[in-house]
Amino acid sequence: MIAKTIAEARKIVIKIGSNTLAKADGTINPEFMADFAEQVSALMKAGKQIVLVSSGAQVAGLSTLHRWARKKDIHYRQALCAIGQVELMDTWSASFRTYGIHIGQLLLTKEDFLDDHRTLNMRNTLFTLVDEGVVPVINENDSVSYEEIKIGDNDNLSALTAILWSADLLILLSDIDGVYDKNPKEYPDARLFEEVSDLAKLRSSISIGSSNSFGTGGIETKLEAAEKVTAYGIPMLLANGGKPRFLESLSNGTQPGTVFLAR
Ligand code: ADP
Repeated sequence: MIAKTIAEARKIVIKIGSNTLAKADGTINPEFMADFAEQVSALMKAGKQIVLVSSGAQVAGLSTLHRWARKKDIHYRQALCAIGQVELMDTWSASFRTYGIHIGQLLLTKEDFLDDHRTLNMRNTLFTLVDEGVVPVINENDSVSYEEIKIGDNDNLSALTAILWSADLLILLSDIDGVYDKNPKEYPDARLFEEVSDLAKLRSSISIGSSNSFGTGGIETKLEAAEKVTAYGIPMLLANGGKPRFLESLSNGTQPGTVFLAR
């Protein structure tokens, strides 16, 4: 099912969570990013168009300014994102440059998706970048965002992006293989759901445990993202970005994941 879903999709939005981008010590993982860029370049050579939604500005900020690690104050958090976003994009840019690919940055807030003019411009920018073989890298504009205008997590941001760009598939990469009936980090016997067609039924048959140290939304926001895109006819795949050559393995059907079927 996973291999077929990827094979049938030309326009793919891929979201990478902070847990996937961070190493165990909380610093950014450039080896992962280099490897990911290579796999994306292979997909593009195979005719796919890719838009990236990348978390990790805070992680990248902390990698740069360790002394701010204990500062929880909102101004410091937003300032840290301003610093980290540059580091994050610098690393993405270097990773993709190895394969002759340019990247372009879009920093968005909830309000951008509510305004007709802005959404039109975002759409046109995305189409132009992708048509020119550039990989757009999207993140929430955390330095200007505040609670009331926040999307709040990149799962929902990537779902809104997939809808805006009329993607064929949304892939969310996390540090687990997919949705389980209970938190696999706490319960080794947790059972993976490989295919989901009824989200309400899924919700009633799973228990949602706590999320990871660097994660923001946990499984709940992934289900919200699935609700959004599948309602627009876009399937979603939740898979593990921590495994070697995961995009290849997913494409050839040798890595498990959860596919949310389009409605
Ligand atoms: P990311 O930053 O990659 O988006 P999050 O930490 O926000 O990831 O969410 C993924 C985490 O949710 C997993 O690491 C897992 O431990 C936790 N989790 C809780 N309940 C479940 C469940 N029922 N199925 C799968 N994962 C779950």
